[in-house]
Amino acid sequence: MNVKFAGLDIGGKNFTVIAGPCAVENEDQMLQASNAVKAAGAHVLRAGLYKLRTRPDAFQGLGRDGFPIVKLAKQKCGLPFLTEITSASQVEALADIADFIMVGTRNMYNYDLLKELGRARVPVVLKRGMSAKVEEWINAAEYIARGGNDKIILCERGIRTFETATRNTLDLAGALWVKQRSALPVIVDPSHGTGIPALIPGMAAATLAAGLDGVMVEVHPMPSAALSDGSQALTTEQFADMMEKLKRLGEVCNRPVHAPGGHL
Ligand code: PEP
Ligand code: MN
Repeated sequence: MNVKFAGLDIGGKNFTVIAGPCAVENEDQMLQASNAVKAAGAHVLRAGLYKLRTRPDAFQGLGRDGFPIVKLAKQKCGLPFLTEITSASQVEALADIADFIMVGTRNMYNYDLLKELGRARVPVVLKRGMSAKVEEWINAAEYIARGGNDKIILCERGIRTFETATRNTLDLAGALWVKQRSALPVIVDPSHGTGIPALIPGMAAATLAAGLDGVMVEVHPMPSAALSDGSQALTTEQFADMMEKLKRLGEVCNRPVHAPGGHL
């Protein structure tokens, strides 16, 4: 079932691009990132306010302190905004500033959180758990759908395997398997899926060519200074270059990548 929201038709003919920094860090960083991704043709701005980090001493996100920065960035660039939820207690506050709420890989099995989002009416991007089988991922989406929320987008973000050359093993075949068996739109996050900027444009192109519905990528105005996931972030120039290639590929595949004014 397509997710029609904020002028977008995700799962429809158009290919959707969600882009932005891993985390909201400060006003300058957010304004630079949001302007750049908008100018390059992204449809949705992403950035984390609540970060679930592997190490407790790592940057945990600005939380509420980041809300005014997000509001300003949204207002200036005009894009809908996606951010991660890490606790059911955040649903109301996040639904107020976010157009899409993301359930990250660490919370795919948090069924209480999924049920709470089922009662909400905000579109949910549900990432695949890093060790989840595709059937478990589909079942997790069903927890949200049973509550009456039918605005669900699945996002493949790589799984844990024996391979360590890439940060995760991007399971494009699993994503396509789900797309062929589920009515839900399926997008791919090649940033977390590979952890390597040089691999991201190619995996994004493969996502489009395979007939999946979109990508989510991390973009930072200065990756070397990023407070989280800098090593996998595309620069704004690399992102613009990737978008040009995706637009050309989209023409060949009849999946328009950038329709001025949105999809609808
Ligand atoms: C993210 O997209 O910012 C994120 C935390 O991703 P994941 O849950 O896939 O690690
Ligand atoms: Mn990240």
